[in-house]
Amino acid sequence: MTADPNCIFCKIVAGEIPCFKLHEDAHTLAFMDINPANDGHALVVPKDHARDLYDISAESIAAVATSARRVARAVDLTVKPEGLNLVQCNGEAAGQSVPHFHMHVLPRTLNDELQMNWGLTPGDMAAVEGLAERIRANMDK
Ligand code: 5GP
Ligand code: ZN
Repeated sequence: MTADPNCIFCKIVAGEIPCFKLHEDAHTLAFMDINPANDGHALVVPKDHARDLYDISAESIAAVATSARRVARAVDLTVKPEGLNLVQCNGEAAGQSVPHFHMHVLPRTLNDELQMNWGLTPGDMAAVEGLAERIRANMDK
């Protein structure tokens, strides 16, 4: 398992920075995004540090996909959005701001007018924490 000491998501994986955790297995960690574009916005990351799609191993991305599917189902049950995107960004122009591969689990509403490169707006942490509890309760239902 490789980690980058300067990487914020490696620090979250190591438990050095707190997160509202949704799911953890041997290869992945899923947690709430602290700048939610919509309610229930979550992230799934590989535990093994990889910068982006070009850097991640086949095993790691398969594990992320499996985890993202489980988290997305729980988010869908909890938030009941009108749609949901899995979004994954590579490079600055694509909107990647954290250089550790991550899959956004992004609930959508009709007419939310979300742009592909949405801006980062800090969420209400009590609301994010409350949603994390509700999503965790819906994992694997
Ligand atoms: P990107 O822009 O790279 O596709 O997405 C990075 C995401 O990570 C953003 O949505 C941002 O809100 C989220 N993020 C950045 N720093 C932190 C953090 O310390 N904790 C959590 N939970 N999310 C973070
Ligand atoms: Zn990392």
